[in-house]
Amino acid sequence: MTTVVDPGLFTSLDPPRLAGSRCRSCGTVTFPVGGSCPRCTLPGPDTVALADAGTVWTWTVQTFPPKPPYVPPAGGFSPYAVGYVDLGDVLVEGHLLVEPGHLRIGLPVRLVLTPVGDGSRSTFAFEATP
Ligand SMILES: [Zn+2]
Repeated sequence: MTTVVDPGLFTSLDPPRLAGSRCRSCGTVTFPVGGSCPRCTLPGPDTVALADAGTVWTWTVQTFPPKPPYVPPAGGFSPYAVGYVDLGDVLVEGHLLVEPGHLRIGLPVRLVLTPVGDGSRSTFAFEATP
């Protein structure tokens, strides 16, 4: 069984799908799930499963360890790619499991789970679509 850092980020884990909010009035979609719409302030949006694939909207490479609560992996910190992925309804920031030399805006990616910290828990990331 997969243990994730925050179960509230997901509607399902196998296959992984991220949970978002869709406003009942204006249709605005957000990630993560929120208590009210950031556009029209209506409370109580619906929780929806976001698309499990999209395209890289922009990206960068994290070349130094983030501040706590970041926990480096057992082998120590290594630079990694992060970016925003366009899932159609919403942009989601996440770890990009793509070699920096292969990253480009518009690259097709899909949602996956990846181990974090000591490897006992996972969170979401995006990898290049085969
Ligand atoms: Zn709204």
